[in-house]
Amino acid sequence: MKKFYLFFALLLLSFNLSFAQQAKYVFYFIGDGMGVNQVQGTELFQGELKGKIAIEPLCFTQFPVSTIATTFSATNGVTDSAAAGTALATGNKTKNGAIGVLKDLETPVNSVAVWAKNSGKRVGIATSVSIDHATPAAFYAHEAGRSSYYNIGADLYTAGFEFYAGSDFMEPDNDKNKNAKNLYKMADEYGYCIARGYNEYTKKCSQAEKMILFQSEDASKMDRSAIPYAIDRTDTDLSLSDITRSAIDFLSKDLSKGFFLMVEGGKIDWACHSNDAATAFREVQDLDNAIKIAYEFYKQHPDETLIVVTADHETGGIVLGTGEYKLNLRTLANQKTSESGFTKVLNGMRKKYKNNVPWEAVKEALEDNFGFWDEIKLSEEQEARLENVYEKTLKGQSAKMEKSEYAQDEALAAEAKRIINETALVGWTSGGHSAGYVPVFAIGAGAENFSGRLDNVQIPTLIAKAAGYTIEK
Ligand SMILES: [Zn+2]
Repeated sequence: MKKFYLFFALLLLSFNLSFAQQAKYVFYFIGDGMGVNQVQGTELFQGELKGKIAIEPLCFTQFPVSTIATTFSATNGVTDSAAAGTALATGNKTKNGAIGVLKDLETPVNSVAVWAKNSGKRVGIATSVSIDHATPAAFYAHEAGRSSYYNIGADLYTAGFEFYAGSDFMEPDNDKNKNAKNLYKMADEYGYCIARGYNEYTKKCSQAEKMILFQSEDASKMDRSAIPYAIDRTDTDLSLSDITRSAIDFLSKDLSKGFFLMVEGGKIDWACHSNDAATAFREVQDLDNAIKIAYEFYKQHPDETLIVVTADHETGGIVLGTGEYKLNLRTLANQKTSESGFTKVLNGMRKKYKNNVPWEAVKEALEDNFGFWDEIKLSEEQEARLENVYEKTLKGQSAKMEKSEYAQDEALAAEAKRIINETALVGWTSGGHSAGYVPVFAIGAGAENFSGRLDNVQIPTLIAKAAGYTIEK
C-alpha cells in the first residue's frame, strides 16, 4: 500500500512538473519589417542619446533566449507580409500575397491562434495597422489575395476569436457585391462589441463577450489604414500600448482558460518602406513599450507565460554606416515628425499661402521639424537641394508627390528625410523588403526551445509545443 501511495505521489509530482512548464499565457509579438538592423539601430540610437557609443538595450532584446530566423517564401527569395504572416501563423510557406492558404491558393491552413482556440484558450489578434492587413489576417483568414479586405474582414467573424484590435476595417462594405452585409453590422450578429478608442473600451469591456477595438471615427476619417506613427502621436490617439493593455485585460477576464495574444507593430515596415530612419526607430521603441506591458504580466506569472518576439522580414535594406567608420544617430532626435507628418505640415502651408509658400516659411518649418540650420548644420549642397525641390514643387506649384509603398509624400518632405538620414550616416538599399535574417527573442515557459538558426515556419510549432496546443497543420 505504501508503495502504491509513493507511486501515486511521484506520478502527481511528474504531472505537476510537466504541467508547470506549459505556457498557459502566450504573447507573440511581430515587428513588421523589423530586421536585425532595425533593432540594432534603435539600440545604438538610444545609446547615442545617452552620450555613449554603445547600445542602450530595449526590453525585449534582454530576454534570455535569442536567435535568428530565415524568411523566404514558397515562391520568392524575398517574402511579402502575406506569405511571411502565413508562415509565422500556420507553419506553412506559401506564395507571396496569399493569406492562410497553401501556394495552390485554395487549401486553407489553420494558424496557431486557431490551435490555441481549439485547445480551449481565449485568443486575441491586434495590430497598429488595419485589422484586415496581411500579418493579422494570416492568423484568422483564408484568402488567395491579401487585398481582399472585405472578405478578410468577414473571416474575422467566422474565426470567432475573443478580441481583435487595429485602426479599423479597410473595406467595411463589399465594393464588388452591394448585397453583402456591412462588416460593422455583422458585429451584432456574431456577438461582438465594437469600441472606439481606449476610453470607450474601458466603458464597454465588462459587458462584452467579444470585443473589437478600433481607433476613433475621427482618427479613421484622417487615415483608416493605421493608427498614427509614434513620432506623430497626440494624446487622443490610440496607441499600440493601449491596444496591448486592453487585449491583456480582456483576455484575462477568465484567466483559468489561458490565452494566446498576437500583437503586430505594423508600421515599422511602413516607415522603412519610406526609408524614414527616425520614424522607424521610434516605432521599434513603441513596440518595445507594448512588450513591456506583456513583460509585466510575465513577471506575475513567470512559470506559465511565454513571450516570443520576432519579425516577418526586413524592410528597406537599412544600413548602419555609409562609408565613414562612424554613426551620428543622435541627430535623428531632431526629427519631430514622420515624412508623412511633414507632408501634412506642408499641405497646411499650401492652403494657408494658396500654393505660393514663401521660402522663409518653409525654412522655418524645416528648422522646427528637422532641426536644420539650427541643430544640424547643412552643407551648401544640401541647402541647394532643398531650395531646388522647393522651387520645383512648392513655389507657386500644386503638389507633386513622391510615392512609396504606403505613402505619397511631398517631395520636400522626402528630400528633408534623405538629408537627415545622410547626416545620421544611415543608408537604405530599396523601398521594398529584403531577405536578411530577422531576430527572434523569447522568455518564459518553453523559451529555451527557440534555439539554433530557425526558419520562420518552425516558430508557430515551437509555440504550440510550449503551450500544449494540438497542432493542426
Ligand atoms: Zn511585413
